[in-house]
Amino acid sequence: MTTQDAGHINLNFKNRVNEALADQELRGNFRGAMDFLMQKRAAMFPDQEDLEALRKRGEQVRNRCLQQLPDLLEQLEAQCVSNGIQVHWAETAEQANNIILGIMRDHQATRMVKGKSMASEEIGLNHFLADHGIEALESDMGEYIVQLDHSTPSHIIMPAIHKNKQQIARLFHEKTPGVEYTEDVDKLIGTGREVLRQKFFEAEVGLSGVNFAVAETGTLCLVENEGNGRMSTTVPPVHIALCGIEKVVQSLADIPPLYRLLTRSATGQAITTYFNMISGPRKPDELDGPQEVHLVLLDNGRSRMYADKQLQQTLRCIRCGACMNHCPVYTRIGGHAYGSTYPGPIGQVVSPQIWGLNNAGNITQACSLNGACRDACPVNIPLPDLIRRLRHDGNNSTAEGQTAGQGQLRKPAEAVIWKFWALLNRSPLLYRLTLWSATRFRKLIPSHIGPWTRYRSAPRPASKSLHDLMKASGTQTNHPTNQP
Ligand code: SF4
Repeated sequence: MTTQDAGHINLNFKNRVNEALADQELRGNFRGAMDFLMQKRAAMFPDQEDLEALRKRGEQVRNRCLQQLPDLLEQLEAQCVSNGIQVHWAETAEQANNIILGIMRDHQATRMVKGKSMASEEIGLNHFLADHGIEALESDMGEYIVQLDHSTPSHIIMPAIHKNKQQIARLFHEKTPGVEYTEDVDKLIGTGREVLRQKFFEAEVGLSGVNFAVAETGTLCLVENEGNGRMSTTVPPVHIALCGIEKVVQSLADIPPLYRLLTRSATGQAITTYFNMISGPRKPDELDGPQEVHLVLLDNGRSRMYADKQLQQTLRCIRCGACMNHCPVYTRIGGHAYGSTYPGPIGQVVSPQIWGLNNAGNITQACSLNGACRDACPVNIPLPDLIRRLRHDGNNSTAEGQTAGQGQLRKPAEAVIWKFWALLNRSPLLYRLTLWSATRFRKLIPSHIGPWTRYRSAPRPASKSLHDLMKASGTQTNHPTNQP
């Protein structure tokens, strides 16, 4: 796997979807988990007006910070440097991987322990480091399970949500020497903790993601529930924080509304167990903390998103995962079917913009444009509009956007069908003729029309059109087909 395609595994999307749909256990796991998460979120927002006001506030904060993004990034760098944090800029995934590898090599480090970081999944860091002889161990329990299974996360907040208790019990029993099969969740977590605790002390470098990077103070904020984020960022002598450039906020005052929205939307919690604020390496009079802190600011396509007024809204995302939990497609096919680090509605918007429409644009089709994702999004990202926009760009090489692979989703046969459809609807004569034929020869329409009728019945036109019925009843219409 190359760095380029590490975050997006470009296999056949349709095959993956069909496999997922045929897997009853997987579908049961997702259905149960998503229902649970939706209920928890709903319980956190009992008052619709309060919710809307908070969403508006979150949207405004994110918009204000994005409007000043270039300045805030410079301010963040200056402030971090004055705090003793070493700042690195990575334009691409490859650069980010090489920067991290360079830091590891500077310290003759061969072991890294990682807190949860979707950005590191995006750049394929684990594979890259493994290719260079470095062990990168996931310490978030969900990520640890996924790593043990040689798999990838299926959800951005709960990476192992596709597995049920029995499957995890089997995995621990098979992959961890000396571990008995047990479905006792506390015992399973205890097993994971035991393995990981030792690893925290052995690792020379800890890596984490960043939820919010505060420009005014140079503070890196990390939201988590398990304490592994704090361990990864304080126990090893070197801490590397990998941060998408859009995560910067202006001041500490910007965080409370976003934090409230994030925890309630993601896991239905009023607050997470840990909220870490990292403002620099250990000071001479401090007893713990890393001796070095590095911040890697990752672009990887984000500047391109930023340059487009409409697509820039993608960058408001605070990675809560609520759009996935509420998406009827994601709920049925799960995260792996998308073949991308970022699945679900936000994945359909982010992935094509990072890996190109030619590589990831096909996943924009997995959407019924029902709008549930937009209604759940805590920062009001108009996801259906962005999905439609990317579909358009994927089919039009002359589209104004800058997303790679524009026009490469166009299928000539489909284009001919749509041209004919447009002509049919523009010409009253053709329209009338088609309507007349469809009603008169309705019985000739086959009951199986390829994949379209695999899960639904074929359409059968009525014996008389509405227009005919109205005419028979003497009702006049201004329909164009009435015109001579
Ligand atoms: S798009 Fe909205 S709902 Fe989806 S992960 Fe981002 S912030 Fe959450």
